[in-house]
Amino acid sequence: MALSWRRSRRAEDRLEKWISQQHQRRVLAGETTPSGPCPDEAFLRALARRSKSIALSDPRVDHAVMCPNCMNRLLTLRQERKSQRRTLAWALACTAGVLLAAGLFTWSRYESRKHEMLAQAPPIAETVNLWNAATYRGQQPTHLQSVELPAAVVRLTVILPRFSPSGQYLIAVTRKEDGTGVVAEGLAPTLAAGQQEKVLVALDLRKVTAGAYFLSTTHEQDQAAYYYPLQIK
Ligand SMILES: [Zn+2]
Repeated sequence: MALSWRRSRRAEDRLEKWISQQHQRRVLAGETTPSGPCPDEAFLRALARRSKSIALSDPRVDHAVMCPNCMNRLLTLRQERKSQRRTLAWALACTAGVLLAAGLFTWSRYESRKHEMLAQAPPIAETVNLWNAATYRGQQPTHLQSVELPAAVVRLTVILPRFSPSGQYLIAVTRKEDGTGVVAEGLAPTLAAGQQEKVLVALDLRKVTAGAYFLSTTHEQDQAAYYYPLQIK
């Protein structure tokens, strides 16, 4: 039912359109005789936008739909209105585009600020306890637990091996056991904590790829470095 109604409505619309086109053609060809004088521009404009202030019984309507000059003007005004509406639609689309771009810009700024904040994230506190590690030069550390550090900014506390002298220490992360390929290092004096000597350094390991490295401790005067295997996760 609904479908056939819609179909007949469409047929009706087509018929109406055809009649009005035939009528327009006749009027524009001068085959009709309008009655009365041409109405003013304001009236034609109102008629073109189908203003409700115009009564269809108004004799000026009768004239306009029969007069080739008025019909011409009406068609031009209708065309202008259509293109104005298109311009408005285009302007609205542009505004939407600008708003979208502004939104994206704000969002990307928020994202980059989030990244900056992550970069400025507080360092991760880690402790490496070498208290029981062998300190004999050239000897592999035997009692050392596996040392792991994250690839981040690390506030590293190194508890130095038993009997380590106090003073300034260079703590480094190196690729090789001979001390080459330094990826991060920090210099700091020892802090006594009971019997133990600690060194606290900040190491930036953010750009270090995960893998096997060495952690070295070097006393400023001694200059002898001790290496301990280290994993960066
Ligand atoms: Zn006229």
